[in-house]
Amino acid sequence: MEILDSDILILGTGIAGFTSALHASEASGKLRISMISKLHAMRSHSVAAEGGISGVLYPGTDSKEIHAYDTVKGSDYLADQDAVELLAENAPSEIKFFDHIGVPWNRGDGGKIQQRPFGGMSSPRTAFAADKTGFFMMRALYDEALSRENIGIFHEHFATKLLIINGKSIGAFAFDIATGEEKIFRAKACIIATGGASRTFGFTTTSYSTTGDGTAMAYREGIPLKNMEFVQFHPTGLVPSGILITEAARGEGAYLINAKGERFMADYAKSKMELAPRDIVSRAIITEINKGNGLKEEDSGMEHVLLDLRHLDKNVINVKLPMVKELTMKMLDLDPSKEPIPVRPVAHFTMGGIHTDINGRILMADGKPLAGAWAIGEAGCVSVHGANRLGSNSLSQCSVWGRLAGKAAADYALHYNGNIADERSMMDVASAESARISSMLSSKGTKTPYDIRERLCAEMDKNMYVFRTSEGMAAAEKAVLGLMREFKDIYIEDKGSVYNTNLRDAFETENLLTLAYAIIVSAKPRLESRGAHAMVEYPKRDDSNWLKHTLVYRQGEGYAISYIPVKITRWKPEERRY
Ligand SMILES: Cc1cc2nc3c(=O)[nH]c(=O)nc-3n(C[C@H](O)[C@H](O)[C@H](O)COP(=O)(O)OP(=O)(O)OC[C@H]3O[C@@H](n4cnc5c(N)ncnc54)[C@H](O)[C@@H]3O)c2cc1C
Repeated sequence: MEILDSDILILGTGIAGFTSALHASEASGKLRISMISKLHAMRSHSVAAEGGISGVLYPGTDSKEIHAYDTVKGSDYLADQDAVELLAENAPSEIKFFDHIGVPWNRGDGGKIQQRPFGGMSSPRTAFAADKTGFFMMRALYDEALSRENIGIFHEHFATKLLIINGKSIGAFAFDIATGEEKIFRAKACIIATGGASRTFGFTTTSYSTTGDGTAMAYREGIPLKNMEFVQFHPTGLVPSGILITEAARGEGAYLINAKGERFMADYAKSKMELAPRDIVSRAIITEINKGNGLKEEDSGMEHVLLDLRHLDKNVINVKLPMVKELTMKMLDLDPSKEPIPVRPVAHFTMGGIHTDINGRILMADGKPLAGAWAIGEAGCVSVHGANRLGSNSLSQCSVWGRLAGKAAADYALHYNGNIADERSMMDVASAESARISSMLSSKGTKTPYDIRERLCAEMDKNMYVFRTSEGMAAAEKAVLGLMREFKDIYIEDKGSVYNTNLRDAFETENLLTLAYAIIVSAKPRLESRGAHAMVEYPKRDDSNWLKHTLVYRQGEGYAISYIPVKITRWKPEERRY
């Protein structure tokens, strides 16, 4: 088995991973940085980000303090306020950093970077490159990384295990998808930036690869996951595919209307209307549908409402929302300037993730850091989004914590003393993982991972969606436990080593099962409604019992749950009104 040595290993080449690599690289040209991606780096999910990145560029009516307040209120007061202040403080310089490395921001008079409003914002503060922001940010990061001699990118390498020896992170075990070759990536420091886990759901905006692998690997090592019950449902998933229609459409003035043609948001968020936070708009849409005010798509039977862009200037659609038009034309042969778009809430973002401190360092259940390990981007939970993320705050989170973790990991690696790990212990762990892969490949079970994945997604769509009930969550728990048992009886059709996507897909299914279970067992005890976790039997937020973060972590073959307080610095929880 090949051992590849570097100073810093970064799992993931999305916006978070690349940002951390560039800042680690800058800290010292001497450090060797390896990046692993299960896809070609430029196919990382971040390329799909559309609407923009938040950050106050022009203080006046807006300020960093207002950005922080909006974020805390949007989070339903579950965000750690010190982390939110850090986000708001640093986000503007991140937008300027991306300007310097070549992102073609939309600009207005005098060349000023334009900013548009997103849900829950008091002022327009989202910078954007049309509605293809993620693509342009990734392009600039990738070009920049290619120009750095000390950054090596391993495309299409699938990590299956974090290597943790004697309480210290020393890298990861991965196989090359093209050849099946197994490799140990040994490093002094490791940054996990493997993205979110929205593919636990079937109706989702995210790419097929968004299977939360790093988060599941961390769970298997006993690392706590924080706030997993909070899954964001974006209000406007295109029906029936689930492809995202960006919130930027509402930011540019689109309306939501029901079957009667009414702008129903007036009944749910009178002042913000369509630009209320996503949890509120999603609940409003499902409530309208439940009241009988929805429409039905014939082929799929999906109930939905309509997103109306017909009143917008055609120039706005062509210049600021070209992808919305491209998508609806391609998918539905629908011109949004002539017909409204069918939409319903769709799984979109993982607010929870690997438990970290304010600097992105991974924390164990006893609150102590795991030496040499950071988790950033959608894989990590700092937590800045709390129970509900505001649109465009993810890209700023990826960049702010990418920079922080990259610099901190570089500092850690530069001051590292002694051997990374006892070679024998490392080989023992790697050999056990290799044996696990072999036994998976040779298993003669009767179930296919694809069937299990499909049934898992259907269960999550049914029972863990926008509104949840105790009965539904109990049913979901039982079903997922059953699927986990079935997974022990899988077979993998392809027994070869070259591009064995069956093997990769089996690992992804295993990770999805782990995380779906973590979502359910974190959600079940939370007997309140907060942000994206809305319980029918407990419709109100309950600060006296539930103003706390959930931690779920593996204990033996079972799991344990504990809670830690939310950090409140300036803003006392109050009722959210929009
Ligand atoms: C359609 C859409 C539009 C969005 N638009 C916006 C927006 O406009 N603004 C905003 O703020 N947010 C937006 N978001 C959210 C935002 O795009 C994501 O939260 C963010 O891009 C996540 O970046 P990341 O770097 O954490 O992970 P990702 O970009 O998901 O990258 C994950 C990386 O990890 C690698 N990886 C995963 N598992 C493994 C493994 N087992 N082995 C090796 N490598 C692995 C992948 O190959 C990939 O390189 C949007 C989300 C969606 C779905």
